[in-house]
Amino acid sequence: MSTMFRRAVLIAGTTAAILPVARKVAAQTTPASVAPVVVDPSYPFVLPPLPYATSANEPSIDAQTMELHHDKHHAAYVANLNAAVKDHPQVAELPLVQLLAKLNELPDSIQKAVRNNGGGHAYHSMFWTVMGGQGGEPGGALAAAIARDFGSLAQLKTEFDKVGLGQFGSGWAVVLVDGSGKLSLVARPNQDSPLMDGKRVLFGNDVWEHAYYLKYQNRRADYLAAWWKVVNWPVVAERYRAAIAGTLGI
Ligand code: MN
Repeated sequence: MSTMFRRAVLIAGTTAAILPVARKVAAQTTPASVAPVVVDPSYPFVLPPLPYATSANEPSIDAQTMELHHDKHHAAYVANLNAAVKDHPQVAELPLVQLLAKLNELPDSIQKAVRNNGGGHAYHSMFWTVMGGQGGEPGGALAAAIARDFGSLAQLKTEFDKVGLGQFGSGWAVVLVDGSGKLSLVARPNQDSPLMDGKRVLFGNDVWEHAYYLKYQNRRADYLAAWWKVVNWPVVAERYRAAIAGTLGI
């Protein structure tokens, strides 16, 4: 076992609050922590606070982008989702996972709004929690699953970035996880979520231009590469455990 790998295993087995944080401490106003994953929110939907300062992902993701992305873009998805379902009591009582899984059964008049804004709310709620980390490598069962299903973490990154770069226009690059822990890669356009197909998202990266354009302009590949430096593997590992336990929501 390499030193790097052993360290990652130790990290995954402890709480992030006592992580041997090697860098970026100054950029964070609160200790790194494993942010609670909102398993499955329901109406009225609320904008979850960022689990770290807007500057926490510098320099990979600039603070202004984080602020606009969370406070404006995600907030708009939440507001628009609430507006779409508020006059439909039977729809509004569905938690978000069900709302998206049953998208095709919803009234025609709100399907598009729920697709775009419900998908957007689910994606971004996940997205914030899987960032704010130190990058590096995951450990434990997640590391084993990555090695089994992709060959190596390096290979996963290569294939993930290829999927993200190949998504024409706006969308997401996503690692899916099934109930047995098997991982796979997919790209989805716009805010279309695998939750709409009854699948589960382990983690994903937002390749809409609003996620990177201020700092990276047209250089999506540079953004994709930099993003790995702020991935919060302990949170992803928590999501992986939840997926196998059947408790992973959005
Ligand atoms: Mn976005």
